[in-house]
Amino acid sequence: MASILIVEDEQRIASFVSKGLRAEGHVTTVADNGVDGLDHAMSGAHDLVILDIGLPGLDGFAVLDQMRSQGSRVPVIVLTARDSVTDTVSALEGGADDYMPKPFRFAELLARVKLRLRQVDEAEPGSKDALEVGDVRLDLRSRRATVHGRAIDLSAREFTLLEIFMLNPGQVLSREQMLDHVWGYDFDPGSNVVDVYVGYLRRKVGSETITTVRGMGYRFSS
Ligand code: CA
Repeated sequence: MASILIVEDEQRIASFVSKGLRAEGHVTTVADNGVDGLDHAMSGAHDLVILDIGLPGLDGFAVLDQMRSQGSRVPVIVLTARDSVTDTVSALEGGADDYMPKPFRFAELLARVKLRLRQVDEAEPGSKDALEVGDVRLDLRSRRATVHGRAIDLSAREFTLLEIFMLNPGQVLSREQMLDHVWGYDFDPGSNVVDVYVGYLRRKVGSETITTVRGMGYRFSS
């Protein structure tokens, strides 16, 4: 159970997200403007913030900026417009941990919420900013990846998939685990989306880093 703050002025979205998270056993607080949102976010009472960008009072970028400059390290998932790449990039550069393009299915948001909460649990005091396995380095704040010190371009899905691998180095991950964590909803079990994305990642981080374990899944190692 976690305490989750939802800063969203569209009542319909706020209520659908809040109801869904409560049904998952979490406690939610809703703020419908940026000023109240920032107050709540800085109270230290929340484990995670879901933050809309277009807000009255103070927009989501300003809220995020104030939070980070005042030292808050609470994970933030921003809600962005699907067609605004600029917003997404600015939010991630401004210290957001993840983003969810609108409109979204609740299951998609829930997958990101679970992932962020799990990382908070796993993080040591001081919290992890980067993951490093062999020559692959993942900066979780700027969401940039490097291989042998060279930056590589990853899509959001590729990044999340690589993140799951790097959080579990040397362990075999099943296709179901990857589907659940990266896509967050039930794909047709016959879907080859995981294999396709593993293929993309192999091309970008080096084919030798991801081993196929027949009948079981994939293993990431340096
Ligand atoms: Ca809005």
